[in-house]
Amino acid sequence: MRTLSGSARGYSAPLKSLLQRSATLCTMTADHWETLAQVYGDEVYSEALYRMSRLDMPAAEAKDCLFAVIEHQKALCAALGRNVSLLTAMCDYFMQVKPVLREPILVEVRLLQQKEESAYKDELTGLYNRRYFNEEIPKEMERFRRFGHGFALLMLDLDHFKAFNDTHGHSAGDQALRDTAAVLGDSARLYDRVVRYGGEEFAVILPQSGDAEAFIVAERIRTAMQLHHVRYAGQDLGGLTVSTGLASFPKDGLDVTSLVQHADMALYKAKEQRNCVRAYHDSQRNYPRYFLSDPLPLALETGKAGWHEASAQDISFGGMLCESRGELPRGETIRLELSDESRGVHLPLEAEIRRVQDLGDNVYRLGLSFRIESLEDQRKLLTLLEGRVKSQQIRRMGPCSLEARA
Ligand code: GH3
Ligand code: MG
Ligand code: MG
Repeated sequence: MRTLSGSARGYSAPLKSLLQRSATLCTMTADHWETLAQVYGDEVYSEALYRMSRLDMPAAEAKDCLFAVIEHQKALCAALGRNVSLLTAMCDYFMQVKPVLREPILVEVRLLQQKEESAYKDELTGLYNRRYFNEEIPKEMERFRRFGHGFALLMLDLDHFKAFNDTHGHSAGDQALRDTAAVLGDSARLYDRVVRYGGEEFAVILPQSGDAEAFIVAERIRTAMQLHHVRYAGQDLGGLTVSTGLASFPKDGLDVTSLVQHADMALYKAKEQRNCVRAYHDSQRNYPRYFLSDPLPLALETGKAGWHEASAQDISFGGMLCESRGELPRGETIRLELSDESRGVHLPLEAEIRRVQDLGDNVYRLGLSFRIESLEDQRKLLTLLEGRVKSQQIRRMGPCSLEARA
């Protein structure tokens, strides 16, 4: 199945235009829709329904509705003895047969889209606004769950902008914000989404990117900002620099709040120096730690001692705390497997035992250190964590601190 990305709802321009045109077509049969769904996934049903009616339905429900509308269209065509468009049939269907639209209106799609887009745009800079950001980040998170594409987030803040305003005036400050928007737009990649987060703070959402790719983009932005001079009322007002915090999903936070918070913490670190980029992971030297509501069963394997039953109490993308039956030697590298049969997930890992604590009755608490680097493995861990996370804590100490406490 092809997966497409880049547009607001994740579809390519040709498909969007086909879905848009489908509304006025009289010739799209159920077979045509099924062929489209085979190529692009069942989401095309939700997308088509949304484009024609602005009704948001899950794929299965949207499919049933669309096929019922097609049957209704056939009946209308037969009764009237002429062609009836899908949109006309849909309007009649949702008013008469399944009355979910009470007062629909006719409006040119171009005008509707202009209005919808302006709700997501910042007036001063023309960038996306905070509202767009708040809706888009959960969609990116969903894309990871479905397609395995992680994403990164940059939070940027202009350096000493108050002083710039105080020296050159508020209007020149506004011009500097417009210039910053242009530099961000030019330096970001085609599919990156640049947002004015508020005031002199900006965010960039980088789809299908990890720390490394995001760092390159952030450095490109930083250098371009440094080279840029703001011109206002015929005068060269000099340059402004930007500080940037970077966090990536899923390893640096599983929900919008924690991801933004962690990108902000990295930005805070960057502000210690200014005109630089800091990644959350580097600045904290660790990953957020998730406490589990039910201990997660796992198997540990050591060369000599064979397999041990164990269960994890808390876990991060860089290590875990678990309890095991039987003692295992500190400093040893072991294999372990996290699994959940009901979700069809098996995640084999190599870990180092950093801490061993005797709890009595042959039960030991182990601090394990590992790295979950690949997106596929990060996605597996996310599936294992779903519905199991009780709370989250930022581990302020590096992995060595586990040793120090042992
Ligand atoms: P730092 O390097 O620590 O970020 O210092 P700063 O001066 O950039 O940060 P501070 O938060 O002290 O000041 C932010 C300034 O941004 C103050 C505010 O007047 C200005 N600002 C926020 N929104 C706008 C805007 O829309 N237009 C203009 N001209 N200024 C704005
Ligand atoms: Mg600020
Ligand atoms: Mg600032």
